[in-house]
Amino acid sequence: MRLKDKIAVVTGGTRGIGYAIVEAFLREGATVVLAGSRPETAEKAVASLKEADPAAKVSGISPNLSDYAAVKETIDAIVKQHGRIDILVNNAGISDRMPFLEYTEENFDKVMDLNLKGVYNPSRAAAEVMAAQGGGVILNTSSMVSLYGQPAGVAYPTSKFAVNGFTLSLARELGPKGNRVNAVAPGITETDMMKAVPKEVIEPMIAQIPLRRLGKPEDVANAFVFLASEEASYITGVVLSVDGLARS
Ligand code: NAD
Repeated sequence: MRLKDKIAVVTGGTRGIGYAIVEAFLREGATVVLAGSRPETAEKAVASLKEADPAAKVSGISPNLSDYAAVKETIDAIVKQHGRIDILVNNAGISDRMPFLEYTEENFDKVMDLNLKGVYNPSRAAAEVMAAQGGGVILNTSSMVSLYGQPAGVAYPTSKFAVNGFTLSLARELGPKGNRVNAVAPGITETDMMKAVPKEVIEPMIAQIPLRRLGKPEDVANAFVFLASEEASYITGVVLSVDGLARS
């Protein structure tokens, strides 16, 4: 068990990639607090994980990730209950495919408020806890589009480029305090987020992938387990691509 007795917080843990990360962390022996956008979705995810394994050490929360005070309060409550936070996974995210000339400030803010502030806020609150306990691991979900951009929905790739910058900068700043900070950049992964993308867009994409398939949430979760574990104890500031693509 690679995460035995670790206390982990996973945002966006109610479905898709985040749910797979929670499942994998539980399998590896961690105690997991998953965050969802609403109490009902968080409770539903916890119930389904406990149905699969009644002994699963999992609970749910649903703070507004864009509100620092709400996030800090939640992080403090987790520390009160569990004593520490070893691993924070900032995974919650939204995307859109709005053409730029139809973009509004609201569209832009909505994506940034979750994809960027929703990474900053939990990291800021957890980093204090981690500094006091002598270190920890912060992992962020980036995206393939953080390397290539995308031809619509400009806020999404912009937010993910920023997540990479945030990851590298925090890794450099917090490394001496015992923290490792890394990101995983999934390629196209079979989740609800991708259901919005039309088939005629997806099929040519698969044809370009040397491994000739889309990613599964479990493919991405495996990378998170590795980066969270001691096996990655000398790895920080990387953006690990999990996308089936071959590149230099
Ligand atoms: P998903 O839509 O299946 O799940 C998104 C998660 O984020 C859910 O758990 C949801 O509760 C949470 N969330 C959504 N809005 C929220 C809000 N306002 N407040 C709090 N939580 C909120 O998406 P997914 O595909 O599993 O994506 C997870 C992460 O992976 C995202 O950061 C996404 O950008 C990234 N990603 C996904 C793909 C893909 O192809 N699916 C590719 C690259 C990166």
